[in-house]
This record gives sequence, structure tokens and C-alpha cells, in this order.
Amino acid sequence: MARAKPKLIKERVPTPEVPVEERVRSFVEVNLGYDFASALKEAERCIQCPPEYAPCIKGCPVHINIPGFIRALRENPDNPDEAVKNALRVIWNDNTLPAVTGRVCPQEEQCEAPCVMGKVGEPINIGKLERFVADYARKHGIEEALLREFMGGNGGMKGKVAVVGSGPAGLTCAGELAKMGYKVTIFEALHKPGGVLIYGIPEFRLPKEILEKEIAKLRELGVEIKLDYIVGKTVTLEELLEEYDAVFIGTGAGTPKLLNIPGILLDRIYTANEFLTRINLMKAYLFPEYDEPIAIGKKTIVIGAGNTAMDAARSALRLGTEVTIAYRRGREDMTARIEEIQHAEEEGVKFEFFVNPVEFIGDENGKVKAVKFEKMRPLDERDSRGKRKIVGTGEYITLEADTVIIAIGLEPNRIISEEATGLKTNSDGTLVVDENLMTSIPGVFAGGDAIRGEATVILAMGDGKKAAKAIHNYIQAKKANA
Ligand SMILES: Cc1cc2nc3c(=O)[nH]c(=O)nc-3n(C[C@H](O)[C@H](O)[C@H](O)COP(=O)(O)OP(=O)(O)OC[C@H]3O[C@@H](n4cnc5c(N)ncnc54)[C@H](O)[C@@H]3O)c2cc1C
Ligand code: SF4
Repeated sequence: MARAKPKLIKERVPTPEVPVEERVRSFVEVNLGYDFASALKEAERCIQCPPEYAPCIKGCPVHINIPGFIRALRENPDNPDEAVKNALRVIWNDNTLPAVTGRVCPQEEQCEAPCVMGKVGEPINIGKLERFVADYARKHGIEEALLREFMGGNGGMKGKVAVVGSGPAGLTCAGELAKMGYKVTIFEALHKPGGVLIYGIPEFRLPKEILEKEIAKLRELGVEIKLDYIVGKTVTLEELLEEYDAVFIGTGAGTPKLLNIPGILLDRIYTANEFLTRINLMKAYLFPEYDEPIAIGKKTIVIGAGNTAMDAARSALRLGTEVTIAYRRGREDMTARIEEIQHAEEEGVKFEFFVNPVEFIGDENGKVKAVKFEKMRPLDERDSRGKRKIVGTGEYITLEADTVIIAIGLEPNRIISEEATGLKTNSDGTLVVDENLMTSIPGVFAGGDAIRGEATVILAMGDGKKAAKAIHNYIQAKKANA
């Protein structure tokens, strides 16, 4: 008799969230994640596609063995510590920052998008399972035991590498090289490591304590982090090349694009970068306990609809202001993660679509008091990035606002490329690299937003990993030919 097919469970096991009323006045993390019992229940839904064709693995930019880590969880239902240790070992083979990626990756577009369970019901909640493994391991001291297995040992024997920037690209490149046995030093311009993870993404999505622990792990792997070091000013690329066998540039895209319209210099108009840096890095929401102040009014308009806009809007809301997001395209064109858009809506952020700012209007004290917008209309055509084209209608609306936050995009800073002769860039400031992520200067590699413009954490990590392999090959080939 044929064996009965296992029953497919179509619905996901939900993760609890802090109720809206409680969370809108605090920066506590919104999603509370799985416990072991619920993670196991969700893991049971996975039909264990063979790794050689599992679509979830292909959808993950660093190709984590997803069915492998899910199986490890299931294999020890009565021994959570053992289950998590085995699952984390599988994840760490490809990704050293799972507590971060489990929280901030747009899984709905990556590993979860092609998951076969998505064809019959909801895809496996891969992101939340990854997060569970990382969180449980951290809380139960499992990481320490595993770290020893991953130590490259031989620190400094294979070569010395300088990594510029401590965002996800730099951290990953450094971690991978340390695992291989290189002596790695990260040079970071700010006083804390993490890049956007520390100064951009707010506590309610990525608690900083968790990030700091992920980074401490890298230090245990032997990575040195030098803070307050601006490469191109404190030390030049040329000087780094004299001391190190290779350099990786992971300096991101942290320069805000501005709106060149009348009134842009009025008081209380922030770039999202400044606003979020004050809140996340300088903890201005805890002023006067912390020194950094933040001035905010009663009505805030955030311009843009990406992750940055959503983070700025939800942070502003938590400071007690009303918030409207104004976007020149429509709801379906927004680039922020779906989960974050939903959270923003639940928390009371309002949206105005198809409006393009043309002027900021000030009061007699030079403070912004309103924003004038032109109404826009969508066309059937799409632009080179696949977005719907829009045109002005010639009609205008004016919305009151005593605070404005501009979140219309970011581009790479040019500190290094302007100082280092021979480092080629594209017109948007991104660095030119070959298929091995090597720049126009031999021995200098680059990845993340510095070569892509504003992208995602996991793509930056994928670049960091790819560059680490290329750096290893480059250094070993150079040594063999010496
Ligand atoms: C507010 C916000 C929210 C986001 N939300 C998400 C999200 O939910 N999911 C997601 O996948 N992506 C998100 N992103 C995008 C993601 O954060 C970036 O794609 C990613 O951080 C890029 O990593 P990176 O390592 O290339 O650069 P970064 O994270 O930008 O790090 C670059 C680092 O280099 C340092 N640096 C720069 N110049 C120098 C220099 N000359 N010398 C020394 N150090 C230097 C910087 O101080 C910084 O620490 C968000 C971005 C922002 C701004
Ligand atoms: S595609 Fe979905 S069901 Fe298949 S292995 Fe991956 S997570 Fe499991």
C-alpha cells in the first residue's frame, strides 16, 4: 500500500509582536520572534527540498543551506541546545551575522519568494527561523562553543588585510578572511562599528545590543577594529597598501541626495541620515540622559518611500509627532520592505501618494511651516529600473508641516576616490570593479553599497564574502610568484 503523503501545513506559525499602543511611544523591538516550540512547529512545515535544487538556497544571496539548518533544528526536538548549535553551525558556514539578516533582509523577495511551500500556502518563515537560531544561541552561550570551531588559527600567517568601513560588507569580508587565517584590521570613520546597522536602522527593528554582540564575535575571531579613522584623511589608501597585502573598500553609500528646491535651507528640514544618526547613534530620543538633542514639531512630513523613509517616519512618530509620508509614485511602487510598511500603517503613519515637492514654505522665524507639492500622474511606461514613469499634472496642494525629513536616496561619498589617484568611479560615485570585485588599483577590492549604490544588507554581505575569496586568491598567487 502506498504511504500516505505527509500533510502540508499551509499557514505559518505566527510570531508575536508588541501591541501597537505600547510600541508607538518606545523604541523596543516590535517583533518578538519564535521560542523553541514555535520554531520547531514552523520548521516541521518545510518539505526538505534536496539542497542541490532547493529554490530557497538559490534565492539567498549568500546561499545558506536553508533546508540543512531547518533539518538540524528538527533532528533534536528534545534537546534545544544541541538543535540550535547544529543549526547555527550550518548557518555560520555562509553567514556570520544571522541575528542581523534574520531581522532586516527582505526575505519576501529573496529566500522566501521561491520557497515551494509558497505555491500551496505561505512560504516557510525562513527569516524568523534564522533569527531564532541566532537569538537562542546568543542567549544560551552556544556561540562561544561554536566560535572555537570556526577560528582560522594561524592569525597573521596567511597575510594582512585592511578593510575600510565596518558596515555589513566590511564586517563580512573581515569575518571570512579571519576564518581563513588572515590578520584583518578594519578602519571605521565613526566612533562605533556597524555602518547603517548602527546609525541607520532603528532599535525597534534591530536592537543595538544584538548588533554589538554580533560584532564582538568578529573580534573574538581575531578581527581588529580601529574607530575614528577616516581613510582618505586620517590615513591614505597608498599608506594602507604599503602595510597590508590587500585592501577591501566597504564604505557604503552614506551621502544623502538633496532636493534642490526653494526653502531647502529652512530650519527643521532634516536629511533622513542626520535625523536617524541623531536618534540611533547618538540616542537623542533619550535626551537629556544623552547629550544629543533632536528638535521636532507636531506635524512631520517624510519625503520618500524606501526603508530609510519608513525608519525615519516610525522614529519620528515615537517622538510624539504626527507623520505623513509623501511619495511621488503610488503605493505599489514603494521600495521599503512590506513588513515595515505594514508596521508603519498600524502605528498610524499616514501616506500621500503621487505628490512631488516643489517648495518648502517658511514662517517669519525661518522655520518650515508647509510644503507645496505638485500632483503627479502615472504613465504606462516604465523607466530603466522598471519603475512606473510619472508626469506632473500642473495641479498643486500644500500640506502643513513644522518638521520635514528628506529620504529620497543616498550615494557613495567620494572621500577615498578623490584622494587616491587611479581609483576609477562611475558618474554616480560608485567604484568600478571587475568580476572578482577588484578595483582599478591592483590589490584593492570593493563591495556593498560602495559599488552598487543604495542596496541591501545581504547583497553587501554577499560582496564581502566574494571579495574575501578573491583577496585570498590574489594574496596567495602573489606570494607564490614572489
Ligand atoms: C535607514 C536605512 C534603513 C535600511 N533598511 C534596510 C533593511 O531593512 N534591509 C536591508 O537589507 N537593507 C536596508 N538598508 C540598506 C542597507 O543598510 C545597506 O545596503 C547596507 O548597510 C550596505 O552595507 P555596506 O557595508 O556596503 O555600507 P554601510 O552600511 O553604509 O557601511 C559603510 C561604513 O563605512 C564607513 N566609511 C565610509 N567612508 C569611510 C572612510 N573614508 N573611511 C573609513 N570608514 C568609512 C561608514 O562610516 C560606515 O560605517 C537600509 C539603509 C538605510 C539607510
Ligand atoms: S524551498 Fe521552502 S520547503 Fe523547500 S527546502 Fe527551502 S524552505 Fe524548505
